[in-house]
Amino acid sequence: MKKVILTGDRPTGRLHVGHYVGSLSERVRLQNSGDYDEIYIMIADAQALTDNAEHPEKVRQNIIQVALDYLACGIDPEKSTIFIQSMVPELTELTFYYMNLVTVARVQRNPTVKSEIKMRNFEASIPVGFFCYPISQAADITAFRATTVPVGEDQMPMIEQCKEIVHKFNSVYGETLTDPQIVLPSNKACLRLPGIDGKAKMSKSLGNCIYLSDEADVVKKKVMSMFTDPNHLRVEDPGQVEGNPVFIYLDAFCKDEYFAEFLPGYQNLDELKEHYQRGGLGDVKVKKFLNKVLEAELGPIRERRKMWEQRIPDVYDILHEGSKVAEKKAAETLNDVREAMKINYF
Ligand code: ATP
Ligand code: MG
Repeated sequence: MKKVILTGDRPTGRLHVGHYVGSLSERVRLQNSGDYDEIYIMIADAQALTDNAEHPEKVRQNIIQVALDYLACGIDPEKSTIFIQSMVPELTELTFYYMNLVTVARVQRNPTVKSEIKMRNFEASIPVGFFCYPISQAADITAFRATTVPVGEDQMPMIEQCKEIVHKFNSVYGETLTDPQIVLPSNKACLRLPGIDGKAKMSKSLGNCIYLSDEADVVKKKVMSMFTDPNHLRVEDPGQVEGNPVFIYLDAFCKDEYFAEFLPGYQNLDELKEHYQRGGLGDVKVKKFLNKVLEAELGPIRERRKMWEQRIPDVYDILHEGSKVAEKKAAETLNDVREAMKINYF
């Protein structure tokens, strides 16, 4: 069986370091491993419209921003197909058929849908399209016969729901669809990176992000303003590292070699954490170190992004070509689906 990756992002804003550790860096690693036959990376504009129907311009403009972020992180269009969801209308037709295989109660139980409805104050006014987005996500995954879906932890219930649709379809219409597996980041700190405000998740919609395209001085300002342990008031006080966003970011980004370069006196993160817990280590020192670590990681990404910003027509070509390749593959699957459902009349 072919090994196929499908993943993507909503073009609701530029991508941030949560996306990077939760999914983007993993995609680049899998892409460069050479272990996959096909890789599809989708800019989910149709999904973004489900809760941005009144702001189509925002979605449209962010497509290019997300594409630039991909290229900046090392997604290689020679190895990965980058495409725009709405340019593959086959996905909509698949969604329509899958809707019959899922109950309203089942979507309502989906924990990610639940929390996103709450976050958007949609309780009394959920757009039907938004409610159905887990089903459309199942269409995206299965259209490409994805075996592997590298995403952040918040997507786990979506993949579960997708697997149920696959099993249901295959049991009703015969073995047709491919069962996907989720791949979560192996580093626990990367599963759901908190925002700089210490909130549960860094999210474009919450405005608590460090963006991949932020300039070095902006990153520094954000890092220096970060939430830490509220009880760590004086340098000599013992501090807490669990749940402390500054240390969670270090867990996600820090490599041992950065200590020799930026903070000699410590060998590794464990030593730094022990000092903080003991007392005698100030937040400012830790934040300055985190800022240097982030700059080492984000600097090259920012430079590559600037290079691609000079080549916008080429980026659109990449999206256009990718969308054609994606449509061809989705059309094959849709044909198989219609055959299985015995609705290929002519
Ligand atoms: P929105 O607020 O519009 O939903 P978002 O910031 O949640 O935007 P998505 O486009 O929904 O971003 O998510 C894209 C991918 O990034 C998904 O795989 C998701 O799991 C992952 N991801 C998003 N935020 C984080 C985070 N804070 N930590 C780890 N992974 C994340
Ligand atoms: Mg999201």
